[in-house]
Amino acid sequence: MSESPADPPPGSPAPIRLLPEATVNRIAAGEVIERPAAAVKELVENALDAGAGRIAVALAGGGIDRIEVADDGCGIAADFLALAVQRHATSKLADDSLVRIATLGFRGEALPSIGAAARLAITSRPRGAPHASLIRVEGGRVLPVSPAAGPPGTLVVASELFYATPARRKFLRIPRTEAEHAEAAVRRLALAAPHVAFRLTSDGATVFDLPEQDRAARVASLLGPEAAAALLPVAAERGRYRLSGFAAAPTVTRATAAGQALVVNGRPVADPVLKTAVRVAYREVIAAGRHPVVALYLDLPPEELDVNVHPAKTELRFRDAAAVRSLVIGGIGHALAAPAGAAAPPTVPSTGQLPGPGRPRLRLVPSQARRPPGMAEAQLALTGTPLARALPAPAPSPHPLGAPLAQLLDTYILAVAADGSLVLVDQHAAHERLTHEALRAQFAEGGVRPQPLLLPAVVDLPPASAGRLLAEADALARLGLEIEAFGRGAVLVRALPAALGAPDPGPLLRDLADELAEAGEATALAARLDAMLARLACHGSIRAGRRLGAAEMDALLRQMEATPRAATCSHGRPTFLKLSRAEIERLFGRR
Ligand code: ADP
Ligand code: MG
Repeated sequence: MSESPADPPPGSPAPIRLLPEATVNRIAAGEVIERPAAAVKELVENALDAGAGRIAVALAGGGIDRIEVADDGCGIAADFLALAVQRHATSKLADDSLVRIATLGFRGEALPSIGAAARLAITSRPRGAPHASLIRVEGGRVLPVSPAAGPPGTLVVASELFYATPARRKFLRIPRTEAEHAEAAVRRLALAAPHVAFRLTSDGATVFDLPEQDRAARVASLLGPEAAAALLPVAAERGRYRLSGFAAAPTVTRATAAGQALVVNGRPVADPVLKTAVRVAYREVIAAGRHPVVALYLDLPPEELDVNVHPAKTELRFRDAAAVRSLVIGGIGHALAAPAGAAAPPTVPSTGQLPGPGRPRLRLVPSQARRPPGMAEAQLALTGTPLARALPAPAPSPHPLGAPLAQLLDTYILAVAADGSLVLVDQHAAHERLTHEALRAQFAEGGVRPQPLLLPAVVDLPPASAGRLLAEADALARLGLEIEAFGRGAVLVRALPAALGAPDPGPLLRDLADELAEAGEATALAARLDAMLARLACHGSIRAGRRLGAAEMDALLRQMEATPRAATCSHGRPTFLKLSRAEIERLFGRR
């Protein structure tokens, strides 16, 4: 390149200049409008801020081709349309201190950012205005306002997203993935504003169409029937902080955290303080690696909160994060402890810990009462709940994991080896590993063996989940799972992996769909398949809480000895603990 006379001599600093507005908007667009879902979120937030009672969102091509958001809110006066698409122009900050922010928007960045990246058309008519007005912005170029037809309210159409910012266009995933993200964004806002009617369509198909509802009805509509049936109300207060909403019973869990709606002062957030508190609240009652389903609403005085942490406004800073944490942990804990038909789970010392003085102790008292063959029952004197089922004294076993002595809490197998070691096996974790390895071996030999169902099962799923599974139908068939489309949002299951026994296909498919959503199509097929094998294994395995007979326990121990990687489950947790005779003696101070 030849030097122009204006170029500085080599080595001297380049002159500093203010960037033109169009460039600034394009830079902001990169932050604010990360993907179509972000544009959808901003536009729906604007509709909510405008006081809409009804919002309709239509997506085409995952929002990459077109996003339409129509509302019946206050509208934008013709005189203000040109200002609305300018950077840092907002009607929402009455007070410039940024301390009391009551609206979802306040940065005045969304419309100019969308206008910089896409073709934007806003048709708006304030109530009482004789007609609507239209403004267009195309790749940052603002066109003149013109009169238009339209009902009171605002219709925003953003088409060909990122056509003006090709660098970002390249990073977009396939439309189905973008549609899922956009749908999730609308779902979160619909959960945050149940009193507003919401309709969402994607490529012409209705994803949901919800009337104005109360919070309970909205949560039930959007979290799925299985979670809806297990929701426990949450209500807790601490000073001026108030927590409300719903926590699903620990029987309903998901493979990812996507089933969690967290709303702070009406704003859906993805806040690490809240997410961690939810995880901690459920830690004792659900398996590691599983995620609870919650819809939690935290309300606190706006000055206790800084929402201006990130352009997308989904991250927060709490002034008193510790108070928020304990409110959430306490609130959920209280909800889960409340009798919901079933009794609260018994509290017992956790594995690896020896019961301290004053704690209930397990007494293994073989009884001669008539029991299932080979079984005797020991009971905790205080509660009468059977905590252990002892077997008749076994002959010394030459095997490393020994001979089974008892099943504890319907969850652990206690065994003794010939050298006097005590072995405690987590029956679910162990069996999960065995199933996983069996599936892997079959897969390596050409495909997991399917067991055709006598009657094909129909499983209802969120349409996005069904789509995701059906897109992988060929891969799933190699995993022994044969499915077909069965209308929108339903999948027909023709066969399940034979090694799994007879798992419930509903939860199994939901988990696989979550797994696929989590992995995304960027993950290599082989890694995705193995993750799915692990999920399948989990569903085909002996649950914690199932009573095992002597022969079943013995078979499990023997298989563990013969299976690779059997010392940990598919999630990396140990499947058994072994306490050698020497260690026991050391613990008792005999050595
Ligand atoms: P912000 O929401 O942060 O104010 P935006 O760029 O999203 O910034 O919007 C700019 C302004 O345009 C808003 O402050 C509001 O006055 C107006 N506006 C945007 N969308 C709507 C809508 N759907 N209904 C009424 N007014 C709107
Ligand atoms: Mg906005």
